[in-house]
Amino acid sequence: MPDVSAHAPSAEDPTALAPLARYTTLALGGPADRLVTASTADELTEAVRDAGRRGERILLLSGGSNVVIGDDGFPGTVILVRSTGFQVIAEEPAAVGHPATVTIRVEAGEPWDDLVAATVAAGWSGVECLSGIPGAAGATPIQNVGAYGQEIAETVQAVHVHDRLTDERYALPAADCRFAYRDSLFKRNDRYLVLAVDFRLARSELSTPVRYAELARSLGVAVGDRVPLADARAAVLRLRAGKGMVLDATDPDTRSVGSFFTNPVLDAAAARRFHARVAVAGTGEPATWPVAGGDAVKVSAAWLIDKAGYGKGYPDGDAPVAISSKHTLALTHRGGGSTAALLDLAGTIRDGVRDRFGVALHPEPVLVNCSFD
Ligand SMILES: Cc1cc2nc3c(=O)[nH]c(=O)nc-3n(C[C@H](O)[C@H](O)[C@H](O)COP(=O)(O)OP(=O)(O)OC[C@H]3O[C@@H](n4cnc5c(N)ncnc54)[C@H](O)[C@@H]3O)c2cc1C
Repeated sequence: MPDVSAHAPSAEDPTALAPLARYTTLALGGPADRLVTASTADELTEAVRDAGRRGERILLLSGGSNVVIGDDGFPGTVILVRSTGFQVIAEEPAAVGHPATVTIRVEAGEPWDDLVAATVAAGWSGVECLSGIPGAAGATPIQNVGAYGQEIAETVQAVHVHDRLTDERYALPAADCRFAYRDSLFKRNDRYLVLAVDFRLARSELSTPVRYAELARSLGVAVGDRVPLADARAAVLRLRAGKGMVLDATDPDTRSVGSFFTNPVLDAAAARRFHARVAVAGTGEPATWPVAGGDAVKVSAAWLIDKAGYGKGYPDGDAPVAISSKHTLALTHRGGGSTAALLDLAGTIRDGVRDRFGVALHPEPVLVNCSFD
């Protein structure tokens, strides 16, 4: 890792006043006051310190795939995280009951899916089901990225941060990161700049046991089976492409933040009330999953949205912002739209679900200089 005491200058981008839309997967968002590109951990740290000294607000932007930025843009400095690369920092031999492992340190701006592809090619198991998720490695701890039965909390060993409160750099062990469903210590918290992430992966040509029923079906195996890493990756990419959940410039559904809402988690009492409302609504059995370690249940936000009357493609094919034609949970920008219009649609859906089922939907992406309250 580079020594952060060496202060490398950050490159200031003359296109600062261009819309941030060009850096977000939604292709939405107004301009920033200042835009800085940081290509190393040192530059990132120095860019954050420099903006702090100037008294400016800071927005860290990596792949821009989990942010909704307001039409007025961002009144402060946007720092584009572009530090790349990874290296093996530790290897452990197999022991009784434990496979051999490799620990890699990944720079924050390393494109996530390139990293996953490299781990699969190297025979390192643990993140293969997270194939195809856009964005950078350093952003994966922010919301404990997860898909198809894996989440990064299972493989992260430590997150290397610059603490803006104390102006120190240190490593937070995974146990201190408060990883939870699409959440962590870092989400909606400006204190920490993620510089690098350590992942510990098993040396294995086989995936971790397949936990997600749809993935198991697609692979023709039973839940709990293991498959070659490359097969797991290919199946996940295929499933994701079918739902418009990979970036693909040729797909009109591609401009999104992935899932716009998290799946609501209901405690036992709320779940009883919900089931009573479902019975009255006559909408059939809801898609739910038990939550480990309690009697709470997670309800499919896609099911709630669909059954509240907002199906795929809502409101219609010509609308500048609409629900994806492939996935009820993704709100897409079809072109010529605005953040205000997107949040208006999100608000309509949230209110419709609440009125029909009494359940509150919460946005998964980070809203920057905008809201839909
Ligand atoms: C098509 C599509 C599919 C998706 N599928 C999934 C999925 O299956 N599972 C899932 O969990 N997510 C999914 N997402 C959401 C998103 O890709 C992930 O959350 C991803 O990790 C965000 O990375 P990013 O680099 O784009 O972050 P950004 O959008 O740039 O940033 C997100 C947040 O993290 C902060 N941040 C970014 N970098 C740093 C840093 N170095 N230090 C501190 N803070 C930082 C930003 O300030 C912001 O608050 C999907 C998105 C899209 C568009």
